[in-house]
Formats: sequence, structure tokens, C-alpha cells
Amino acid sequence: MNSADEVHRSILRIAQHSLALEEVLNAADRQLGDGDTGTMLVRLIAAMAITAPAPKETLSGYLFELGKSGQNSTGSSLGTLLVMGMMTAAQRLKDESVTNNPAELLKHIREAMQRIGRSDLGAKTILDSLAAIEAKLKIHSSSHVDKLKLAHEAAVDALDEFRMKPSHIGRARIYAEKSIGKDDPGMLAIAKILEILGDGGLEHPANNKLSSSL
Ligand SMILES: [Mg+2]
Repeated sequence: MNSADEVHRSILRIAQHSLALEEVLNAADRQLGDGDTGTMLVRLIAAMAITAPAPKETLSGYLFELGKSGQNSTGSSLGTLLVMGMMTAAQRLKDESVTNNPAELLKHIREAMQRIGRSDLGAKTILDSLAAIEAKLKIHSSSHVDKLKLAHEAAVDALDEFRMKPSHIGRARIYAEKSIGKDDPGMLAIAKILEILGDGGLEHPANNKLSSSL
């Protein structure tokens, strides 16, 4: 399992791609809702990026701090779910048996998010992406294939699998119909974040300008 420093570096890496992430997720959300998923997520990431781990901080302790920083930055439902996922990871990582079992850790995170979001699998939400990643990591638990690469593939597969299905997240039926053929912004967020964390990174003309000014 990664150290607190590695997690912090990953968050900084995601933050460097904020412009592209915000744009692509807002565009997906505009198709279905109020178009603010990207803005919310980028704000959450910015709040987490300025929270560096204290020297020798444990991963569990750091995730808890990140959860607290995130909590103060968002009141949105997706943001709340992500913060809850982080808090659950912080709690579970106190137990040695899950530290080397990412599929098991993810299962606990997903189940906690499911309880909080009062949502079932199959509703075309971020939970379906997490379940797909969990399943793929479990199948390949003893292989040496890069876990991040497996997770990204699973997140992309989940988008493909659910794209033509309707969303069922307790909104009006008209929303379910409108969502057919479109990606859920939360599912897309997970796929894009994993893309950034892999070797890819998101293409955006402003990225170059941003990195040269850092
Ligand atoms: Mg929205």
C-alpha cells in the first residue's frame, strides 16, 4: 500500500490537471444536470492538495486529514460520497489485513458509500465503477500487472457497459431517459482521475501554460 507521501504526490498530480478535469466533467454534467461536477471535484482536490502529510504520518492518519479538508470544501452529494470513501479507507487501513488487499479495501469503501448514498449497484453511479474496479483487482490479485492500469481499464469498461443504460438515482423518470447514451459524471470522474494517475494525463492546451508557470 502506498505511503502518505505517495498519496500526496498523486493528489498534486491530479491537481495539475484541474483545468482539463473541470472542463470534461462539467461538460458531462451539463448533459444531465447543472454542469458543476468538475468545478466541485476540482475544489475538493485543491483543498486536499494543500493538505500535506505531517512527517512520519501514517497513511490512515493522512487519509483522515484529507477527508476533513475535503469535507469543508464541498456540500455536494458526490463530494460527500468521496469524503466518506476517504474516511472509510482511513478507518480500514488501521487493520493490517486490508493494507495489502486493495480489492478488499475498495469493497469496504464502496459499501460505506452505498449506505451513505442510499444507492444500489446498477443505478449507473460511481458505485458501479468502484464495483468494476474491485472485481478486476480481485481477479488479478496475485498478478504483477500494474494495479493502476487494471483499475483504469475497469473504469473505462464500466463506462462502456453503462453508457446505454438509464440512470436510477432517485430523480424523475425523464432524467433516466435523458441519461441513456450519456456517461454518468461521477463514473467519468473516476476514469479520468485514473487516466491522470497512469502515464497518460489529460490533454488540454492550458496544461502546458500551467506547468511552465509552476
Ligand atoms: Mg451537478
